[in-house]
This record gives sequence, structure tokens and C-alpha cells, in this order.
Amino acid sequence: MILLNPGPVTLSEPVRRALLQPDLCHRESEFSELQDEIRRRLLAVYGLAPECWSAVLLTGSGTAAVEAMLSSLMPPDGELLFLENGVYGERMRQIAAVHGIAHQSLTHPWQAPIDLSRLAATLEGRPRITHVAAVHHETTTGRLNALAEIGALCKRLGRGLFVDTVSSFGAEALDLEDWGVTACAATANKCLHGVPGVSFVIVRRDGLPRPDVPPRTVYLDLARYARQQDGGGTPFTPSVQVFYALAEALREMEDDGGWRARRTLYAERMALVHTGFTALGIAPFIPVEDASVVLHAYYLPNGIGYPQLHDRLKQHGFVIYAGQADLAPIMFRISTMGAIASRDLEGLVRAVEGVVGSTDG
Ligand SMILES: *Cc1c(COP(=O)(O)O)cnc(C)c1O
Repeated sequence: MILLNPGPVTLSEPVRRALLQPDLCHRESEFSELQDEIRRRLLAVYGLAPECWSAVLLTGSGTAAVEAMLSSLMPPDGELLFLENGVYGERMRQIAAVHGIAHQSLTHPWQAPIDLSRLAATLEGRPRITHVAAVHHETTTGRLNALAEIGALCKRLGRGLFVDTVSSFGAEALDLEDWGVTACAATANKCLHGVPGVSFVIVRRDGLPRPDVPPRTVYLDLARYARQQDGGGTPFTPSVQVFYALAEALREMEDDGGWRARRTLYAERMALVHTGFTALGIAPFIPVEDASVVLHAYYLPNGIGYPQLHDRLKQHGFVIYAGQADLAPIMFRISTMGAIASRDLEGLVRAVEGVVGSTDG
């Protein structure tokens, strides 16, 4: 089966085999070495200096990392401004509400870009806001939000910036230093091509709370993970096998040329799908130049419902992805992540052509 959903991804054989390495106790030195290697490699993906930045590993999905970032790094007296144009911005707001973090939101229609002048006006008009939270790649629609511009604004107006980079880390440009990012959250099983079960937060060391600040959560207390992982330990039982697979996936990525090579590869894959779909009259949901290389959303072809398209393509060995919430009846999504080949995507286009053709007239 070829997975064209935005994670978990089709695994490479070396990553799959990495799951079968020797059993390991997480209190032994072999685990510390494995954990150190992953933390070092995660920072190296975007060339971050370990003196200034910490990659903190968690056992949990991407949402666990996002929740750990917001609940652990927001100061008790801080106020957070969310930039929402999809499901994942909305989810961050729900996290703040659950943890009793003071917040407000700039909501946008889901097909719209983030309104930078509204952001500037809001920050200028409300000095109480200490931090902004944004989604880099809003997987709901495939939009790559203008993080460099958002970051520049936050920097100029002296606000911290938290970013959900769950579906962009490893495949899109991400300049945490230059863009003034305080922390970002991501996961093993999207653009990094690992196995689901490990996620992480990359945080400026000076953005970690002081030890006397009481945590809002036990399991997701990032400061505690950061302290213990710096000493080679970790607070709770990690998913050891998934760590093995992530280390292998990161080695593979470096051998393949890092995030830039991955971005180029995804862009080629996306161009192939896009050209094929355009010829079939299937239209993109947002302008292609606004979309990431990681995922594109398309309008369902005339007269074909998502379940029909999904089921027919699955018979051909392809798993596509539905639209979320209000977009479910009109949209489908294709992701380029994972160990897939161009010929797989050519096969997808042919299979879609078969479905569209068979329902014509
Ligand atoms: C996939 C995704 C998440 C979280 O996913 P999990 O299912 O918790 O791993 C968060 N944000 C974005 C932008 C995503 O694409």
C-alpha cells in the first residue's frame, strides 16, 4: 500500500528493519547514546547550535509535542495570541483553553492566508500579549503560512513565537534563529520518515522555564525532559524501538542531502501529481504557489464523493486523505511524504483518471 496521507508514511526498508534491533533498557548507556544521537541530529537538520538550542524528545504523537510546548513554555502571567487558518491552529487554541492559559485568536477563513496587518495591529494594540503561536504548514489546506514575515513582526514587536512545524520539519525552509522562533514542535513520522510514537520540541535554551516555575503538566513537562535528557536520562519509559527507527531515518535523510534535497524531491513529486490532475480537470483548493511541497488539497472531481474516490484508489493500492470538518464533502488531499517513487505517483494519476473517466456521462 502506498500511503499518500500526511503521516504515518510509507517506510523505507532500512527504517523498518531498524525496529528489530536488540531490546534495550532506557536506563542503560546504550539508550543514552541513541537518544544523544537523535537529539544532535535533530538540531543538525537546520544547523542549530546545541549551546543555544535543545531538542527535547517525547513519546507521543505530534499533538503531544505541541501541547508540551505550549503548556510548558508559556509563562504563568503570559498571554498567547493564536493565528488560526485551519484545524491545527484551532487545536492549539483548545490546548491553551484546557491549560487555563490566557489567550486570544486571530481567526481566518480556512482558505485564507494569515493577515499580517491585522497581526501587527493586534500586537501593537495589546501589550499584554507576550507570545504568538502559529502553524507553519497548515495541513488542513496545504498552505505554507508566511512564517518568516510572522517571525519578523514578532521580533520587531518583542514577542515570543511558538510554531507547530509538525508537517513541515525536514522538508521546508525553517530558519528558527533568523525568524525569532522561541520553540517549534514536530514529529518523527511525517517529513522525517520515521515511525509514529516519538515527537519533539526544539526550544531556545533561554526559552525554557526556570526550575522554580511550577509545571502545568506532569507527563508533558518539557523542562523536566530537557534537564534529564541533557544528563543522558529521560523521565518516563520511551518507545525505544521507535527511537531506533528515528535515528535511522535521520541518518538516511542526511545521506540523501538533508532538508533541501527532501524539499526538491517533494516538489518534483508534487509537480507530477499537479500536472496530471490539472489535465484531468481537478483543481487545487488554494493557489499552488501558496502551498507547501508536502501536501496539496484538491477539489473532488465533479460528481465523485470522497468515499468513492478513496475506495477505488485503495483497490489500486493508494491511500489518499479526506478533507477535515466543513471541507470533507468537497476536498481530498495528497501528501508527498515517505519512501515512495515517482512511478507510484504516475500510477496514482492513472488510477484517478480511471475513476474520473468511468463516471463521465
Ligand atoms: C499531523 C499534524 C499534527 C499532529 O498530529 P498527530 O496526529 O498528533 O501526530 C499537528 N499539526 C500539524 C500541522 C499536523 O499536520
